[in-house]
Amino acid sequence: MRAARFPGEGRVEIVDAAEPRPGPGEVTVRVAACALCGSDLRPWRRGWPVTPGHEVAGRIDNPGHPRHGDRVVVYIPVFCRRCKECEVGRTHLCRESRDLVGWQRPGGYAERLAVPERCLLPVPDDIPDRLAPLLLDTIGTTAHGIRLAKRVVEGGRALVLGAGPIGLGAIVVIARMGFGPIDVVEPSAYRAAFAASLGATATGPGAAATGRYRLVVEATGKDAARQVALEAVGSEGAILQLGESDAWAVTETRSIRLKDFFLLRSFYFPIGDYEANLELLRADWDSYERLVDDAADLDDFGTLFAAFARGEKLKPLLTPG
Ligand SMILES: [Zn+2]
Ligand SMILES: [Zn+2]
Repeated sequence: MRAARFPGEGRVEIVDAAEPRPGPGEVTVRVAACALCGSDLRPWRRGWPVTPGHEVAGRIDNPGHPRHGDRVVVYIPVFCRRCKECEVGRTHLCRESRDLVGWQRPGGYAERLAVPERCLLPVPDDIPDRLAPLLLDTIGTTAHGIRLAKRVVEGGRALVLGAGPIGLGAIVVIARMGFGPIDVVEPSAYRAAFAASLGATATGPGAAATGRYRLVVEATGKDAARQVALEAVGSEGAILQLGESDAWAVTETRSIRLKDFFLLRSFYFPIGDYEANLELLRADWDSYERLVDDAADLDDFGTLFAAFARGEKLKPLLTPG
């Protein structure tokens, strides 16, 4: 079967890979759509040892299996179901297995992949393949972080730093979960205009850094934005840190020192959130549909990924066919 690899330096190779060999308790999933993700940019630049792709929708492809042909999305943490975290439903924080589909084991930038049955989430008939991947990172990761934030801030004025796919998803999710008005800081005119079309008001980093927000969502993974987040958060407000990078370097200014605030970092989402995430997708269908702005098969995947890396696409899909 054909699969994509990231050999490094921003290149994509399409290789003839071995067919997935599902182990005990696993099935083969035929990929219908795998969404491109900003977190893939680092492996794309540096190289990665396995087939990446972690926002996978597809069909179970195991003739004879009771679920053969079922439409699914893939929950990427290969959780154990027995450890202390799994027992209380925090499957994304499993202590026994930290393996993630598309990171430590082969992912969805391919025609097929092997997936543990416990990681298969059923896709209802009303959700098309092209929207199903959004249930994972775009909605799932963001909504989980906001649910944590709501333990300390109920609603109010919000700021989103970065209007990439996670930031744009965050605008939709936080509006739906009771926050507003929403301001956004985004240097790309295209992305800022898209954020405005979702109801957010564009502002600059200087204007944002004035300590008046109940909730700040940092969705760039850049230190400059982390610094703005620390200045922008209001008294007893919360910063939700969703962006990722290898190192964080921020300066403790006097205004940050003389302030009470909550700083949250969250990773992915508990598997039990899935039903609630389906409802979030249905509630803001048109906004999510507009996020998915392109698709390509494996032949054109390298070109699509390069355009995505340049910020010219919001949430495009690999559709291996
Ligand atoms: Zn992702
Ligand atoms: Zn576990």
